[in-house]
Amino acid sequence: MKLKFAGIVDHSTLDYPGKSAAVVYLCGCPYRCPWCQNPELVFEEGCTMVEITQIIEKLNENFLLDAVCVTGGEPLMQENAIELLKRIKQETGLLLKIDHNGYFPKRLKEALPYLDFFTTDIKAPLNEKYGAAVGLPKNWENIVERVKKSHEILKNWDGKKEARTTIVPGLIDTKEDVGAIAKVVNDVGFEICTLQQFRPEKTLDPKFKFIKSPTAEKMQELGEEAKKYLPDTKVQVVTHEDGFQEID
Ligand code: SF4
Repeated sequence: MKLKFAGIVDHSTLDYPGKSAAVVYLCGCPYRCPWCQNPELVFEEGCTMVEITQIIEKLNENFLLDAVCVTGGEPLMQENAIELLKRIKQETGLLLKIDHNGYFPKRLKEALPYLDFFTTDIKAPLNEKYGAAVGLPKNWENIVERVKKSHEILKNWDGKKEARTTIVPGLIDTKEDVGAIAKVVNDVGFEICTLQQFRPEKTLDPKFKFIKSPTAEKMQELGEEAKKYLPDTKVQVVTHEDGFQEID
């Protein structure tokens, strides 16, 4: 069984909290977030079809790993990704996490039994802003419906889960946006809420290269806004200047 695959990073300390992780990059994505930093994966450039067995063998060669993060693009874009997750869990003994964008609730349900940790984007409040944030404004209703179905599934999953939002000036960057997203984070029961700073170095939409990153101060302010709605949740902001910072 094969998958469209872009590569493996052998050792990351950023992709699975507190663990040494391999990162498996799969190709394709149903969204077109204008600020996306991995457009080559979205457009499947430089991707090859590989046997799942080859990925498993590669993971088993590395004796220093604790965990695997399967990411993209969107890892659940390909149906065969479920088989990959199943085989990683059964054949490597490593902790397993995926980064998901909420668009595939049925596949999410199939994936969860194999996962130890789960990260998903909540890109915007669950209204027409979601369509703008993922670069598909006309499809916002369908997208929001699918994201809500994913959230319903996650509410009933007791594994560890993190919600992430990228703060993009002019798109998603107000206290109202962050407050609305934080209410969703609370409702679904995520343990961690992460606000990450938009970076303009590489973007899917070339116009976004001219947008400046939000300042560290602005990120802190939005983190504090989120914390108001999430007193019992770990709220953190990630900036180029200061790295990960937890909001008290
Ligand atoms: S940022 Fe958006 S377009 Fe890029 S991979 Fe993630 S969900 Fe897809």
